[in-house]
Amino acid sequence: MNLIIFGPPGAGKGTQAALIQKNYRIKQLSTGDMLRAEVASGSDLGNRLKAIMDAGELVSDEIIIELIANCIAEPECEKGFILDGFPRTVAQAKALDNMLNHMKRQIDHVIVLKVDEEALIDRIKSRAAETGGARADDNAETLKHRLKVYHDQTAPILPYYEEQKLLRNIDGMQPIDEVTKEIEALLKA
Ligand code: ADP
Repeated sequence: MNLIIFGPPGAGKGTQAALIQKNYRIKQLSTGDMLRAEVASGSDLGNRLKAIMDAGELVSDEIIIELIANCIAEPECEKGFILDGFPRTVAQAKALDNMLNHMKRQIDHVIVLKVDEEALIDRIKSRAAETGGARADDNAETLKHRLKVYHDQTAPILPYYEEQKLLRNIDGMQPIDEVTKEIEALLKA
């Protein structure tokens, strides 16, 4: 089973993707986590990525597509994967389709977490408090920009998957375990 989890920053993609990885034994591929690991390594590439991410901008499609292509080809993704934070542009969505076609694989569901954007600022503030400000992009000003980038560059992917009848909308404003239950119900159906 190959899934995409989709939604604006702070929607709960990472939380739900980790639970799905655990419950369904499919691999969570979080581009945000991979990029943060590269930043933490202190490499030259990591330093360049940090500046982009701290500003709430997107890392280039080229870097991200290569990263994901390598991951999907790994044996740990054989049973399936859940993409969290990817694709984030139409170019990334098309590149994903290309690589899956070559591998004779496909996306089964695109789970869309619907959230009230007013609530996102509070969620991001709580995450910043809980993690001791670990993510420099978790602040009100950068969140505003990340939301703009989401609307300008990421949301336009939705019609692409809508046409393929892959979209599954979930109310992401519910408590975490309710969201998980709804996702599991749709995966069983
Ligand atoms: P969130 O969904 O809360 O914004 P992520 O952890 O998914 O957080 O992403 C953090 C940052 O990492 C993004 O703002 C962007 O700079 C970079 N990033 C993550 N995934 C991608 C991607 N697929 N394409 C381009 N940049 C990405």
